[in-house]
Amino acid sequence: MTQPLSETFERYALGLARKESLPPEPHAEMANRRKAKLLRLLKAHGIKGWPERGTLFTRQLSDGCKPCLSGEASHLSVTTLCNRDCFFCFNPKPRKDVLSVHGREVSSLDEAILGLKEMGVKSVGIGGGEPLLFPQRVFEIIKALKKNLGSDLWIDLYTNGERLTLNILKELKAAGVSGLRIDLAAREYDAEPVRLAREVFNDVEIEMPAIPEDKKVVRDIMSYLDELGVKQLILHELFASAANIDSLKKRGYHASSSGSPDFRLTWSPVAKSEETVYGHLLYALIHQFKMSVYYCSCRTQDWIAENALKNQKLGTVPH
Ligand code: SF4
Repeated sequence: MTQPLSETFERYALGLARKESLPPEPHAEMANRRKAKLLRLLKAHGIKGWPERGTLFTRQLSDGCKPCLSGEASHLSVTTLCNRDCFFCFNPKPRKDVLSVHGREVSSLDEAILGLKEMGVKSVGIGGGEPLLFPQRVFEIIKALKKNLGSDLWIDLYTNGERLTLNILKELKAAGVSGLRIDLAAREYDAEPVRLAREVFNDVEIEMPAIPEDKKVVRDIMSYLDELGVKQLILHELFASAANIDSLKKRGYHASSSGSPDFRLTWSPVAKSEETVYGHLLYALIHQFKMSVYYCSCRTQDWIAENALKNQKLGTVPH
């Protein structure tokens, strides 16, 4: 059974249906002028990427991001159960212990693998929820993916880092995980799991939303992350969806005016997040960090969905 082509727009999450919007950004013109100025500075300092798509990076793209940008990647959620309750989380509540692929629930690992095979993906992100609530399940999934989709398959494991131990890290590596993606924003920017992960993995990346009011704390840890040998700091534009809009409203966020006119996603960018990322990118360029800093905006996600639609193999999403 297959889902229609348009379903590929609803990638990577279970709770991205639009509910309502955040209030519009006040003084949007001034904010846009500040961003335009930062973008000019970024260009003067050698930023790479596609500014018109909101896709920027300081050094090189991550190995896991390349197939994602060309629409040849997918996401397998082990569970939506989690040991945290982040205000920005886009997983719907109540949380459920279900397996899903590409945002669609599946009834078995075999079904998940069949779906990924039909999509012809080159890279898979394993996440949740917090996948390491069930480490044995994760090892089994990774081994099965490698066996059925080939040893070249790139696998990133997404985690908030709370359950990482040296033994789990070694088992993840032995099972075939290519890289770790740790969300520091989920645990008050505690970098200890990153230090631990670097003892086992070469490819340790940070992936988290750019929260405007956390600008200073992120700046303060960037040089430490660089010293630890983190390969990528991947910053997402904070976005509103049905699952998180109430908590975003409580924190007083506004809707960004930066969505492109042909914006087709069912989630939408939050004001000031993009400006925050531009500042972090500039900071990384000025300090010449070896770690690459990458900006993945809502417009990038829109672009990814467009590329997925162009990709013949992704013409339909198995269900
Ligand atoms: S750690 Fe991730 S899955 Fe868990 S609540 Fe936070 S954002 Fe959601």
